[in-house]
Amino acid sequence: MEGKPILNQLSPYKQGKQTKEIQEEFGLNHIVKLASNENPYGYSEQVKDVLSDGLPEFNIYPDGYTGEVRMALSDKLNIQPNQLIFGSGTEEVIQLLCRSFLQPGSNVVMAAPTFPQYKHYALIEGATVREIPTDEHGYHDLDRMLEAIDESTKIVWLCSPNNPTGAVIPKDDFLSFMSKCPKHVLVAFDEAYYEYMDKEADPDALSHMDNYENLITMRTFSKAYGLAGLRIGYGISSSDIITTLDKVRGPFNTTSIAQKAAVIALGDQAFIENTYEKNKTVKASFETFLDRIKWPYYDSETNFLLVSTPVSGMEVFQYLIENGFIVRPGELLGIPNTVRISLGTEEDMKELQQLLLKFHEEKAKVQ
Ligand SMILES: *Cc1c(COP(=O)(O)O)cnc(C)c1O
Repeated sequence: MEGKPILNQLSPYKQGKQTKEIQEEFGLNHIVKLASNENPYGYSEQVKDVLSDGLPEFNIYPDGYTGEVRMALSDKLNIQPNQLIFGSGTEEVIQLLCRSFLQPGSNVVMAAPTFPQYKHYALIEGATVREIPTDEHGYHDLDRMLEAIDESTKIVWLCSPNNPTGAVIPKDDFLSFMSKCPKHVLVAFDEAYYEYMDKEADPDALSHMDNYENLITMRTFSKAYGLAGLRIGYGISSSDIITTLDKVRGPFNTTSIAQKAAVIALGDQAFIENTYEKNKTVKASFETFLDRIKWPYYDSETNFLLVSTPVSGMEVFQYLIENGFIVRPGELLGIPNTVRISLGTEEDMKELQQLLLKFHEEKAKVQ
């Protein structure tokens, strides 16, 4: 049986090796995974406490309306309950957007490099993809993105901060983009790393929801909240767009355990503040280290840094994996001679820095 023709050009998501496989392959007993921007500090203790006290009834379908999380978020974000859509991760919200708005003849506009799923799902729907290179510092080129829009453009993807570069879209640029972007184009604003951003960098997209009915902002419990394994993320938009997406959404697309954990995690903002502060400290000291060995890196308002490497990113990746650290080589992300390194705990980062220093000194000797 053949799938639709476009599937011949696509491959299934290729995940990195699992920790256990690497341990066996290289005979290591300690592996540090800095490849998927997960929270190295885990998740709220309160979630642990509540879940160990009593699990949801797994024989009963979850609340398809995701009511408790919906109410908690609507309070916290000061938006109406009907302005929210939930997905099995933001990943599913991205998929719902493509299924709801794209068809053959449509096109979408996005940065390059950016989060790969925007393109993947657009192609499956038969849409064409217009990729606009980021500038040399990893920022979206919003003027060129506006120029790429025509009457068949259905979605413009803005990833802020951008994965994998880390660059945020500055507030004034975002507002100017919104005022110029035609109303028939949905602006999908992906803020997966929102909680890691400096408050001054926050474009405060939600406060502009009423002015822009063609805007959807997406956030997730997978990154700073540390609940990647439970799969829950959400979109915030006008009730019109949410109604459209709800027609496509599966009726029980988030699990009861994810819903329960998300409500409790939202209530523990001290955990988020703590994660934010620790990440900021680790980022600053890792940047100081990179300055010392003169490896350039991109501005980042996230829990990862995209680092330019003097050799191929694959080579750095291979060296690190043999020493128990998993990072993402830029060759797999569309930016050769870089590695994307998620920021780990202070202790793990110290060890990583020692390894990078050794690598750097050996390379210097060879030259
Ligand atoms: C991690 C990530 C997501 C997806 O997160 P989910 O786990 O599916 O919620 C979406 N967008 C960007 C830019 C990401 O980095």
